[in-house]
Amino acid sequence: MSHDLLHPSIETIAPRRLASMQEEKWRRQWDYVRSRSPFYRQKFAAAVRSALTLDDIRSLPLTDKEELRQAQEDEPPFGSHLACESADVVRIHHTSGTTGRALLIANSRDDLGVIARLGARAFYAAGLRPSDRVVHCLNYQLWTGGVTDHMSLEGTGAAVIPYGVGGTRRLIETIRNLGVTAISCTPSYPATLEQVLRTDFDLEPRALGLRLALFGGEAGLDSRRFRQTMEDKWGFAVRNANFGLSEVMSIIASQCEATTDLHCIASDALFIELLDPQSGERLAIEDGACGELVCTHLGKTCQPLVRYRTRDVLTVTGAGPCACGRTGFRFRVTGRTDDMFNVRGINVFPTAVQKIIVDYPSLASGHFRIRLAGPGPYERIELRVEASADLPREQWADAARQLEHAIGDAIGASARIDMLAYEALPRTEGKTSIIERG
Ligand SMILES: [Zn+2]
Repeated sequence: MSHDLLHPSIETIAPRRLASMQEEKWRRQWDYVRSRSPFYRQKFAAAVRSALTLDDIRSLPLTDKEELRQAQEDEPPFGSHLACESADVVRIHHTSGTTGRALLIANSRDDLGVIARLGARAFYAAGLRPSDRVVHCLNYQLWTGGVTDHMSLEGTGAAVIPYGVGGTRRLIETIRNLGVTAISCTPSYPATLEQVLRTDFDLEPRALGLRLALFGGEAGLDSRRFRQTMEDKWGFAVRNANFGLSEVMSIIASQCEATTDLHCIASDALFIELLDPQSGERLAIEDGACGELVCTHLGKTCQPLVRYRTRDVLTVTGAGPCACGRTGFRFRVTGRTDDMFNVRGINVFPTAVQKIIVDYPSLASGHFRIRLAGPGPYERIELRVEASADLPREQWADAARQLEHAIGDAIGASARIDMLAYEALPRTEGKTSIIERG
């Protein structure tokens, strides 16, 4: 059966061939890192004198974001992990900096080639084709979502309109005048677009004629209800096409047309380890494996990283080939190690709890807090959950029991819920922590 893939020889590669290709790339990259990266020469000390295989690197210490920040503070602007000549840097980004100080990301011409190639592969997997016209509505200022993702979109052969954020009225005119077929934006943007369409143009969302929406940049896409509602309203296919980290590779995974899970599409550029969040042991990438994503570059010249902790915990949902023909493993993002807590031996992620609560809009508003008393491990998940706007108070107790059961079924840990009145929890701009520690 033939499949429509952008890079078929890489995307359908057999596991054994992939392993030997990665090993060969790593041999060159390790020679480069240990001779050129002051950061790793110091961090790995004696290990830089040895040839190491990808199996051997499990003995090396992990690298985390805080170390990179410190390295940039000590040696501005790029840090001692800059392994090339400063003149070889051709594009500079900031990380979006939602947690702590922003990092500077330096890229060489070669690095950008790899990033755009992977990104194009991801957008193509999500359904973008050369016949499409796609409007790119992410912020172009400093972070990689703008110009770098723009170059990835172009890599599919589609015509890309650089739009950026804001100017919704003019965007609608542009989409209509140019016959735009696809949009790349955050999942929350269509709500704004819809509002302006109705008030200024007296049009329904479907009238725009978009067939594909490529999302990234925010959580929420895992909710089947959220996707279905949006697809029904707009008539476009909803795809998360943009999972990545700017300090690693802008895009390393996307959804294909055959599954709602994310495909890893970056195995020719990254060696991926999943580490058990408790023991730190490397896990085999097989169905059901759940561990922290740790990335090692197989060919990066400016700021190569070895065993970089992303803090994202993934659950592998498919290790064999997908119906689309790709052999890259599929996964879901389970949560962040920063937020993880332990209930009677079970790792619990606030995002997993959130997914359940938002699935019951008739019972709960979606706003809630998890209370953690002391350092844990905990006996149960203690929650304060807002009732939905029109749930009568006499039904709160029943609602709490239903939600407790749903959490128990899905997560395997028991929960105890106190219901709160609608809007009892503060609504703040930006990210509110749903964990209360005491
Ligand atoms: Zn697939």
